[in-house]
Amino acid sequence: MDKNNIVKEYSNGEVAVVWQSAKCIHAANCVKHLSAVFKPQQHPWINVHNATTAEIVATVNKCPSGALTIKTIEK
Ligand code: SF4
Repeated sequence: MDKNNIVKEYSNGEVAVVWQSAKCIHAANCVKHLSAVFKPQQHPWINVHNATTAEIVATVNKCPSGALTIKTIEK
């Protein structure tokens, strides 16, 4: 596995936040907008259970690099 391009998925059962490390420019928009969910000091650093799906989607849409994307979970 390429350690410089880690892809992680964090699901809350409705949506999954997908993070691609290679694209992240560490602008920290996600951390500023929703610090309950995006905690760069922690492992795992994305805590999808700490906010509503709407809040998470809105914050992911503010990621300037495309490192964060949303995947809808099929039920
Ligand atoms: S907003 Fe996007 S580019 Fe910025 S730190 Fe978060 S994931 Fe990385």
